[in-house]
Amino acid sequence: MSIGDIIYSYIPARHKNTPSGWTKFNAVCCHHNGTSADTRQRGGIIRNGDGVSYHCFNCGFKTSYQPGRHLTRKMRQLLGWMGAPDDVVTKLSLEALKIESDEKALEAVTLPTFEDKPLPEGAMPIDEWIQISNKLPDDLRANLEEVVEYVVGRRFFLIPGMFYWSPLNGFADRVIIPFKYQGRIVGNTARKVTAGKPKYISEQTPGYVFNLDNQTLDREFVIVCEGPFDALSIDGVAILGAEIMDKQALLLNRLNRRVIVVPDKDADGARTVEQAVANGYSVSMPDWPDGVKDVNDAVLKLGRLMALYLIVTQAEDNELKIRLKAKKWFAS
Ligand SMILES: [Zn+2]
Repeated sequence: MSIGDIIYSYIPARHKNTPSGWTKFNAVCCHHNGTSADTRQRGGIIRNGDGVSYHCFNCGFKTSYQPGRHLTRKMRQLLGWMGAPDDVVTKLSLEALKIESDEKALEAVTLPTFEDKPLPEGAMPIDEWIQISNKLPDDLRANLEEVVEYVVGRRFFLIPGMFYWSPLNGFADRVIIPFKYQGRIVGNTARKVTAGKPKYISEQTPGYVFNLDNQTLDREFVIVCEGPFDALSIDGVAILGAEIMDKQALLLNRLNRRVIVVPDKDADGARTVEQAVANGYSVSMPDWPDGVKDVNDAVLKLGRLMALYLIVTQAEDNELKIRLKAKKWFAS
């Protein structure tokens, strides 16, 4: 029986139902409120789903219950006046609290949505550009070659649709990485492949986790890196910065597997470690070779398999051990 059903079960035996849905009876509240007792059935109760409202047109007392809210003091009073024993009222209060917290929990796990965002003007997948590259003017073809060399030099295969390029608006010397979410493009970052600033031009998407779409179901863990190249080089995900935002934690938790955070070996990385610990994630600070600052560096130096092996075997769950390791790791 629902809470509404139980409240209804205490309606006095002498009552009448009106066509508009009210159940009328001699009000049970009035003499508790210093008014003479009702004898003209001026108390009324009505349901709306599992919600219940009570109105007294004699003394003016009213109260209601809505699923997802707690049982108010006045509703508990009303139940008592209708003859509900204390233990029933207590049980109903607890049940209402439980529904309330369940609804809040449900709200909390409502997943973030991200709006579609266009890529820079003229952007097309690099693999498509390569096929028509002989039609490009020399200078732009040289740009495209540089971009392709950069990508291949980082040991990425040119998986169709993974990287984009645009000859327009100063993007010619940049590789564009689309931010995909459930197959849609919800942002992007464009990295310069030659010297100069800014290194990245981004269409930011707060709360987004990069490469989530490619997390296959067979893996028992997900590796969380800072940058998109790190993530792509080991099929992990990227938080696109040093901070793990609440929305991002929600998306990571939803994968329902071990989360292994690999911080960059720099000043901001220490912050990432703290946030990983706060979220209950594993942290891996592998003994990288000298000069390796992030996962993509490690893949370039050690190869993908070895980098992955070090990350997984040196992942630590214990908070104390994580902190001890962090002290040494960031200092070295
Ligand atoms: Zn009353």
